[in-house]
Amino acid sequence: MKNFHIAIIGGGVIGSAIARELSRYELDIILFEKESDVASSTSKANSGVIHSGINSPPKSLKAHFCVEGNKIFQSLAEELSVPVKFTGKYIIARNEEEIKDLIKLKKNGIENNVKGLRLIEAEEINSNEPNISSKYALFVPSAGITLPYQLTIALAENSIINGVKFLLETKIIDINNINNKYNIKTNNGLFKSDFIINAAGLNCRDIVQMLEEPDFKVYPCRGEYLVLDKNCNSLIKKLIYPIPQKKYGFLGIHITPTIDGNILLGPTFEYINNINDTKTTKEKMNLILKEVKEIIPSVNEKAVINAYSGIRCKISPPEYDRISDFRVENSKINPGLINLLGIESPGLSAAPAIAKEVVKIISKNIELSKKTKFISKYEKYKKFSDMTNVKKSKIIKRDTNWGRIICRCENVTEAEVINALSNPLGAKTLSSVKYRCRAGMGRCQGGFCTQHIIRIMEEKFNLDRTKIKLKSQKSNLFIGKIRE
Ligand SMILES: Cc1cc2nc3c(=O)[nH]c(=O)nc-3n(C[C@H](O)[C@H](O)[C@H](O)COP(=O)(O)OP(=O)(O)OC[C@H]3O[C@@H](n4cnc5c(N)ncnc54)[C@H](O)[C@@H]3O)c2cc1C
Repeated sequence: MKNFHIAIIGGGVIGSAIARELSRYELDIILFEKESDVASSTSKANSGVIHSGINSPPKSLKAHFCVEGNKIFQSLAEELSVPVKFTGKYIIARNEEEIKDLIKLKKNGIENNVKGLRLIEAEEINSNEPNISSKYALFVPSAGITLPYQLTIALAENSIINGVKFLLETKIIDINNINNKYNIKTNNGLFKSDFIINAAGLNCRDIVQMLEEPDFKVYPCRGEYLVLDKNCNSLIKKLIYPIPQKKYGFLGIHITPTIDGNILLGPTFEYINNINDTKTTKEKMNLILKEVKEIIPSVNEKAVINAYSGIRCKISPPEYDRISDFRVENSKINPGLINLLGIESPGLSAAPAIAKEVVKIISKNIELSKKTKFISKYEKYKKFSDMTNVKKSKIIKRDTNWGRIICRCENVTEAEVINALSNPLGAKTLSSVKYRCRAGMGRCQGGFCTQHIIRIMEEKFNLDRTKIKLKSQKSNLFIGKIRE
């Protein structure tokens, strides 16, 4: 049984950010992820917004970590070669009544130390966002966008380079506290650790329950989205939000530009019983389109190319009429069990600051010594589609795989698919390729490139066709040959 100083449960953005922050120190760290890749759950299915912190209640952990996380994002993204854009956000008032809410929101933001907030009128809105129908808006300059799954992947891969061990497809089944050292039982064997970091997202209660009686419940709450084709990307430049509406949870159905040029519409807000129920529905699709058309009347449903949903990890019941806070705490009953509970939105924005807080908690219990050789930079190849023609011909001359387009919609080359499959985590599903290089994310949603990716998996990585998976252990693409 191998001993570790730190065992992290969960390879979402929270667990991966913690792994990377801790990898600055001389520690033996292991991260367990039950799925076939990191960012397999909520961290891949959200709006990808770097929130400013304007909406969270003053003095809450949500406000604190979100504002601090927002400040770190630019430099973190640069270090990890993850794209971010601080586009700014307009929160719009649709009637006189909502203007009062804008003023309240501005006051809340100022209390949370959010900078640059400004109430603006129709002329300024129309000159920047001609497709929006609104007379007043609150401009929030520090809001931005990123690619949440790429951030999570980069945090994880950079942690590995700095010595963290990641075990995919490894589920924590049980944990025992033996004199404040933890014995961890998984489907991949037994491990020992001094600290357990519970970053299991929607499963956070199950992990607590392995060691003590939890004092909270998880109330999963689904948010559905629609994705618009890239040819709609001139509709908006900034994030466009309505006034937060109680009936849609918190932030309301908003319109979000993405780094890759698509536009997201959503999310909806619906308490559900099953944390894995990520279905999308016609009913919510119609609701999203109705709400969005009130803000951008010209939105066309024919431009919808995909739908997805993500599940919020709420730890307050539907009838609770306030905003519940994050919980980031060292257990009193089991010292060394550090729980990250109820990390719903703005968890992505807050992740870099939460990770630093976890280091602080650990440093109160053991002496941490910094590594002399922490590698903070994680360089990646530029996307082929973003290269200049000169760069494209140079790179093709060096390696002809750069000259073979595999995904026509997104212009992804064979070399990029090979790079994606050579990831340090060892993730080798169709999804792991898609989230690393976008092959399969375009208009045809994998109709053309899937066969080529499978060929590359077989030819270049010696994968047996019957073992190739879509995204998880149970999602085999083929069961055998129908003809020899
Ligand atoms: C609809 C929606 C929109 C959102 N929009 C935004 C936004 O725009 N901006 C923002 O800042 N935040 C947003 N959020 C919040 C943000 O997505 C989450 O706070 C964040 O992704 C949570 O990350 P996590 O690592 O805690 O959880 P997850 O990403 O769910 O990761 C937890 C991981 O733990 C693994 N795991 C669970 N149990 C076990 C076990 N027993 N053994 C091993 N592994 C286990 C899971 O497989 C999973 O991969 C949104 C959330 C939703 C649902």
